[in-house]
Formats: sequence, C-alpha cells, structure tokens
Amino acid sequence: MTPTRSTFAGLSTWEIAFWYGLIAVSTAIFVWGVARLVLKYRRGRGPFEFDRPVARLRRMAAVVLSHSGIKRRDPLAGAGHFLIFYGFVVLFIGTVILAFQDDVAKPILHWDFFRNGFYEGYSLFLDLFGAALVVGLAIMAYKRGIEKPFRLRYWRPDRTEGERERRRYVIGDWTFLGVLFFLALTGFLLESFRIAETNPSFEVWSPLGWSVGHAFRGLGLTGRAAADAHFVQWWVHGVVALGFVASIPFTKALHMLTSSASVASRDERAGRELSPLPPDAKPDEVGYGTILDLSPRYLLQLDACTKCGKCHAACPATTSGYPLSPRDVILDLREVAEGALGLRHELGVPPLHDPSASILGDPIRPETLWSCMQCMACVEICPVGIEHVPIINQLRRRLVERGEMDPTLQQTLESIYESGNSFGEARRKRARWAKGLDFEVKDIRKEPAEILWFVGDYASFDPRNQLVTQTLARLLHGAGVDFGILYDAERNAGCDVRRVGEEGLFNHLREENVAAISSCTFDRILTWDPHSFHTLRNEYSALGVDWNVIHHSQFLLELLEDGRLTPERPLGYRVTYHDPCTLGRYNGVYDEPRRVLAAIGAELVEMPRSRSNSFCCGAGGGRIWMTELKRDDAPRPSEQRIDEAVALDDIDYFVVCCPKDVTMYEDAIKTSGHQGEIELRELTELVWESLDLSAQVTVGGRDGKEEQP
Ligand code: SF4
Ligand code: SF4
Repeated sequence: MTPTRSTFAGLSTWEIAFWYGLIAVSTAIFVWGVARLVLKYRRGRGPFEFDRPVARLRRMAAVVLSHSGIKRRDPLAGAGHFLIFYGFVVLFIGTVILAFQDDVAKPILHWDFFRNGFYEGYSLFLDLFGAALVVGLAIMAYKRGIEKPFRLRYWRPDRTEGERERRRYVIGDWTFLGVLFFLALTGFLLESFRIAETNPSFEVWSPLGWSVGHAFRGLGLTGRAAADAHFVQWWVHGVVALGFVASIPFTKALHMLTSSASVASRDERAGRELSPLPPDAKPDEVGYGTILDLSPRYLLQLDACTKCGKCHAACPATTSGYPLSPRDVILDLREVAEGALGLRHELGVPPLHDPSASILGDPIRPETLWSCMQCMACVEICPVGIEHVPIINQLRRRLVERGEMDPTLQQTLESIYESGNSFGEARRKRARWAKGLDFEVKDIRKEPAEILWFVGDYASFDPRNQLVTQTLARLLHGAGVDFGILYDAERNAGCDVRRVGEEGLFNHLREENVAAISSCTFDRILTWDPHSFHTLRNEYSALGVDWNVIHHSQFLLELLEDGRLTPERPLGYRVTYHDPCTLGRYNGVYDEPRRVLAAIGAELVEMPRSRSNSFCCGAGGGRIWMTELKRDDAPRPSEQRIDEAVALDDIDYFVVCCPKDVTMYEDAIKTSGHQGEIELRELTELVWESLDLSAQVTVGGRDGKEEQP
C-alpha cells in the first residue's frame, strides 16, 4: 500500500462542494475584517510611513523568528510562545501543502507528490509540531492560571476596584488559548480516528496519532464505528478551523497579524528623537487630543498589543503607585479607536465613541500622563514594538497647549523661559561654581578649546552637584585637557522641556544654544549631564549642526586609557552602578562607566535591574519639576532602587553619573532609611580619589573646607 492519504476520503461530491463554500465564506470574512482594519488605520492623521521596506521586513523576520523580545525577562513564557508559534506555523504550512496538492498539483499539474517518503516526513513533522503546540499552550495556561505574575493581572493603578473592569479581556485570553487547544486536540483525534479506521503500517510515521489510534482500536473502535468517528471529527475540526480563520481580525488572534506589522513599521528612534511640530501648527494640531490625531502607525500599534504586561511590570510609575500603566494607556486608546473607528463604523451603527471627542480626561486622565518619567522602559521591553513614549508625549503636548498642567511645572517652565535655567537663577550665576577653583576656566566664546564643556542646569546650580562639577574641572585641568565653558550663554539644553511636551520652549532653547555653541571653536562637546548629552547629540541636528558630543564617562575612560589620567592605586571598593535612562536606554552607553570603574580598581556588583533593564530614578520626563502624584505608600522609584542596592552584600558606594541621579539618590538614601548603610558617589569623585592629584587638592569639599560656590 503506497504511503499517502486522501483529504476528502469518504466525502460525497456535495459535501466537498459545501466544504469549499465554507472556505469561501471564512476567507471572505477574514478579508473583510482585514480590510476594515486597514480603513481604520487610514483614518489616522498623516501617512503610513514605511520607508526602506526590505530592511524593515528583514528586521521583522529576525525579531519574529528569534522571539528575541518575547523571551526577554520571562524565558518560560518565551519558550511557551515559541512552541505555539512554530507549532502553529508548521501546521499552517502543512494545511497549505494539502490545499496545493488537492487544488493545484493533482488536478492542474497532474503531479502527485504527496506520497511515499514525502508523505512520511510530512506526517512525522506535523505530528511533532502539533505536540509542540499543545505543550506551548499548556505553558501559557500555567502562566495565566497558576503562576499569575503581576504583569498578567488586569489590576490598574489609575482606577479603583470595579472601575473599568477587564473581565472581557480575561475571557478573550482564555478563549484564544482554548480554541487553539481545541484545534490541536481535534486535529490529533482526527488523525487517530483515521488510523483506527484504516490502520496502514506506514502511519507509524505519525507516532502520536498511531499510538492513540491503536489505543482506540484496542478499545474496539474499528471499521464502521471508526469511520463514523473520523467523519464527524473531520467536520468538527474543519469547521472550527475555518471559524478560527474568520475570527482572526476580530479577536485576540489579531495580534498574529498586527504584531508583525507593528514590529516592521515601528520607528527605530521612537521616543529617543521626538517628532517636531508641523510647520505653522494650529492649536488643534499640536499633539494629540482626539483619537483621529493619532498616526496610522500608532492606530495599528494599539491593535498589536498582546496584553503581555511586560511594560506594565517594567514601568517605574506603575510599580511605585503612580496612576499610570503604559499597558492601560494603550488598551484605553485601543478601546476608543475601536469604538470610534472600528466595526460599528463599517456596519453603519452609531459609534460607541465620538471620533472627534477629546480623549484627554476620559479615558486618558491628565495625572496619568504627568506620571510618566519618559524613561523608555516600556518601549524598550515591548515585544511588538509599541511606542508608548512618543504617544504619551503627544498627549502631553496637547495638555501644555491648553495650559492644563501642574502649577509647579508651569512655574518651572516660565523660569526656564525667563532665565534659561530651571532654578530661576540669574544667568550670570551659571558659572559661579568655577569661582571655587584655583585656576581660570576658559571662556570658549572668546578663545578656542579642544573641549566645549556644556555643564547643564543641575551641574551648574545645585550645591551638591556643584561639588562634582568642580571635581571634574580639576580632574580635566590636572590631565591637561584644553577645555572651556559657555558661561552665561549656556541655556537649559531642553531635553526635559521637550519630554514635558513644551515643544515651543524647547525650540527656543535649542535655537539659543545652537547660536551660542556655533559661534565657538572646539572639537568636541563634553557634558556630565546625560539629559544634555542626549538632546545635544540627537535632537539638535534638526537645525543642521553636526557635533561630536561625549559623556564624561566616555571621556574619563579615554583619559584613563591613553594615560592622561593614571590611577595611583586600585580603590578596592565594592560598588554598584546605576544606569541613567538617558545615557543607557536612550543612547546605549552601558560599558564605558563600567570600564572606568574597572580601571580604577573598583569591584562592580550589578543590581538585578541593570543596563537596558535599569530602573528610573523618578526624575525624568520633567517629573522632578512636578508635585507628587503617588496614590499609595509604595516606595518611590529612587527608594526602590536604593533598597535594591542595599540588598546586595556589603556595597560601599552607590555610583551614579548624572546630576539628577545625585540629587534623587542622595535624598532617597535618607528617606528610605538606609543612611549609614550605603553612600553615593558620582563616577568623577571615585576617579579623582584614585589619582595622585587627590593628594594635592581637596575633593569636592568633603572635608568641609571647600568654598561653596
Ligand atoms: S516611559 Fe517609563 S514611566 Fe513612562 S510609561 Fe514608559 S515605563 Fe512608564
Ligand atoms: S504594550 Fe507591549 S509590552 Fe505592553 S502589554 Fe502591550 S504588547 Fe505587552
């Protein structure tokens, strides 16, 4: 007997015709569902950008096939999804092969390839991948039903119990798992009944079906009874499979299409480089106020969310009691988009949401938007490429445009506008910290220098940070670096002003800084403020400047490696290092600070959350300028971070390399009750301590004799 099988064995002509009719109906519903989604996305503002399609598709293939995003920080869930994905893909390809054999190869090409070795290999492959699908589904059911991690619960930090409950999401999640499980199970039963009925020896190549089929035969299921069971199962499996195909654009299964499209179309610079305002934008074109303001790409991203909750668990606001979850922002916007632009629109039924109604207030509350630290943890972890940060920023822009913001923030923005700094200090005081030095710092506006040092607000005006700034100045001077500063011509770089949503003020600051810097002669720009570093490096180029901007951690490493700084002795401290969001996640600078620590003989012990998984200090996105929005007594992000560091064994110093981190963590060491257990050091201070220069000049005034600027 030739190893093969007939798809329609035992079916009459009208039954086969009926089957093809069902395929047509299922396909038509699927196509209509996809088409209405495309129409929905097209109603967004602006074009759907898809430049460099080959590179984008290649990137999507790499991300989807490797599961690189899904397995991060939860390998078990990654393994479960991996098994489901490849099980499903192989079963789908198996179905396509069958269709090709029945509808093209045999009747049109007269080519009968579905036999002998091909058939046996096909049988084995599908059997094994079908089993993989079942194992993957069992893992996911375990995660949702038994392990129940924080990220998979639909608890919301911005709503009280009962407000906007998410039971239908839970039902949708379980229905999706259940339908896939039912399809896999009925597929195996179908195979087993067929083997029980016909019992050819070559079906041993379907090991699972063979085993179960023979178990059925052992129970007496043979001949007519097995044939009837096979017939019923054929229709049950087939009809549910076609129903599943038809349901894809309307259910959780939609992510099978949208998440790949989202990964392919996402902006690689998302959140790092915010989009400019349209030229001559009218007030209702500034930021997002209605669902129709979102771009087609963002509308697509709303449908791509799988509700995996990874962003929810990574968000420092969510885990610290602020009324914000990035997942819920996306899901709320998705509900509005579907209610305003979705199926009801296509059916001519009045929409659940008025498309032109404001989304600010309900469902997206202002306090939710102001809770965001723009730390990028959500964007970085989202496996399907959703761009929460620019979406939140656009919503903030509209609030700012309407003047709806925290009074403290408003006051700070006014100070920045009037004085060019967030401290509201007179411009001439910007370089006062340099008065404590025993050498003159060059005015780079008047004479050229190798390095233009952009100091930044916190490093210039905050007393604790001024000590670090002085130490860095002495260190550069001691290493013979030719550097100068802008004195009163420097302005706030505008990084956080932009992240707050005040695009107009950001443009103003950028223009002033570009004018001041462009009039100077220098090779590189140095700063120890990661916020200034980020924005000068990435967001000033829109004005046509092309500067080489470096962070002091990179420059210190350079000085240590080329011998301009020579440590006298290894420090021997056990330290832990905090990656600032704007240095790490925004710019990928992870190694240089660690290499500096290694070069000065400090032993680095990593916190559980480090590098791209670093945890925001809580100051970013302008939060340092706003009043507290926390709703419960969970520790603040900076306090959680200090707890994390103290939990490591015998750490001498908590090392930072950002002025705002100095401020936030000096405070958090006190408020978290860990004073005396751990001390803060800025990277520069440890480098200074390791040098012989430290024997000649007092570091940072810690002996109390230093003149305060
Ligand atoms: S940027 Fe940070 S604070 Fe804002 S939503 Fe994302 S994870 Fe939360
Ligand atoms: S936005 Fe991304 S990370 Fe967050 S729940 Fe949705 S898919 Fe997961």
